[in-house]
Amino acid sequence: MDKNDNDSPNAFCKACHMTWEEDQELDLERVWVQCDKCDGWVHSECLSYSLEEDEPFFCPDCL
Ligand SMILES: [Zn+2]
Ligand SMILES: [Zn+2]
Repeated sequence: MDKNDNDSPNAFCKACHMTWEEDQELDLERVWVQCDKCDGWVHSECLSYSLEEDEPFFCPDCL
């Protein structure tokens, strides 16, 4: 049984649809951000806008 409390094995980037698992295998060390509204994940580099550190993050679907 693989228990990863910090990881999100079923997550995928809402922009490029790469899964978390595939990303880990490629070992690109890309930054994932989680949407505060739908709890979906996106690569920060897949966003067309920049992140504001102190503000809640909304994915492109929730903007
Ligand atoms: Zn992506
Ligand atoms: Zn969202």
